[in-house]
Amino acid sequence: MAINSGLKDNADNVENEKLIERLVDRTIKFYELDIMLEDPERAVALRLRAVEKITGREYSEINKYSILAKEAKPNIENMIGTVQVPLGIAGPVRINGDYAKGDFFVPIATTEGALTASINRGCSVLNSSGGASVRITKIGQTRSAMFAITKSERINEFIAWADDNFSELKREAEKESKFLRLKKIEKYSDKDTVWLRIVAETGDAMGMNMITIAAKNLGLYVEENFEGVKFLSESGNLCVDKKPSRITFEQGRGRSVVAEATIPGGVVKKYLKTTTEQMVDINHRKNHQGSELAGSFGYNAQFANVIAGIFLATGQDMAHVVEGSHGITDMDVVGEGLHVRVTLPAVLVGTVGGGTHLPCQSECLDIVDCRGSGKSPGDNASKFAEIIAAAVLAGEISLIGALSARQLSEAHKKHNR
Ligand code: NAP
Repeated sequence: MAINSGLKDNADNVENEKLIERLVDRTIKFYELDIMLEDPERAVALRLRAVEKITGREYSEINKYSILAKEAKPNIENMIGTVQVPLGIAGPVRINGDYAKGDFFVPIATTEGALTASINRGCSVLNSSGGASVRITKIGQTRSAMFAITKSERINEFIAWADDNFSELKREAEKESKFLRLKKIEKYSDKDTVWLRIVAETGDAMGMNMITIAAKNLGLYVEENFEGVKFLSESGNLCVDKKPSRITFEQGRGRSVVAEATIPGGVVKKYLKTTTEQMVDINHRKNHQGSELAGSFGYNAQFANVIAGIFLATGQDMAHVVEGSHGITDMDVVGEGLHVRVTLPAVLVGTVGGGTHLPCQSECLDIVDCRGSGKSPGDNASKFAEIIAAAVLAGEISLIGALSARQLSEAHKKHNR
């Protein structure tokens, strides 16, 4: 493992000590160090030393990492080191998808003991049942540009104008990206506020930077070309980014994915130590009745657990676990078996962009054979979303199985303590 040696390699210790003092007394701001110094690794080490002085403690682990600070520049400001998270592996899981076909191991970064074991057990159940059938049902990243209109009685006129000028608005939205494709513009209004919610495909990128740039360019064009409308913001919270919402639950965001399998009764008994009827009953009462009463958008047992573990491993934006937590788990008795289906309306993933280029994260994308661009733009991100949905299906089967067999707390006692 590389240990940040920014300071050790630097002969000018007097200069380093002076800089640390100035960081401590705030005559230099943390971010200014990156402008003053050519060596980003040295800047990281100096900031950490300043934090040690300010807090009166030594930090001997934070500075051990293999990322180059200059590589992480698009991902972090005021870098002082890294935090390591244990990485486990689940699977393989057999997947019959439109993009993911075959057996896939799944990297899980987590500190929740029992999680990887739970997904792993679900993968064994799926493999003994012919694998998971997975399909993408919808693709579309969203951003809502927000406007104020001087005369609210002109809202209908403005909306009609936006419809009539779709080609121009599309051209403006797409002009800074080779990959973003504007699909539609949804309109919302309240009093004198109007939102143009743009829906776009963003290739293999998760796309939030791309679509935010698109929203800005579209907004500026609107303001210039429709008199009486003021462009207020690239985001007006109807996107809805990183917040739970009805619109995400119903309309989806990023990629909407369905994964399902029919598990023979014998497999339920052998691996999960319960019955199909018991699984269906627990699933209905917990995931449907309980979630309904709670007003939750998560009619599921642990989508967020699986999604967080994979997202952290592969450099996704962790706040999009919020979107990933939306969705439904259905279980039905079919003949002698148990049919399980997970519906994930909003899987926000990229195989390029964001944190996916970082060294450990891109190796984890290699484990699922999804690093970088697909043959056609979007293919790799779709394949990755299918693999995630299969892992989520495995997690649901295992957890509902554990609850049905009253084994959840025992599993956590064994693995998580
Ligand atoms: P990005 O890294 O900003 O952009 C993706 C880049 O990859 C673009 O330059 C794109 O080209 C290029 N690219 C190359 N091959 C591609 C392919 N096959 N498909 C798609 N693009 C390809 O990533 P992003 O996904 O747009 O944004 C992700 C970042 O946004 C994350 O760091 C996330 O934390 C952050 N984020 C931002 C906001 C915001 O409001 N801005 C909100 C939430 C999250 P082009 O230049 O031709 O498009």
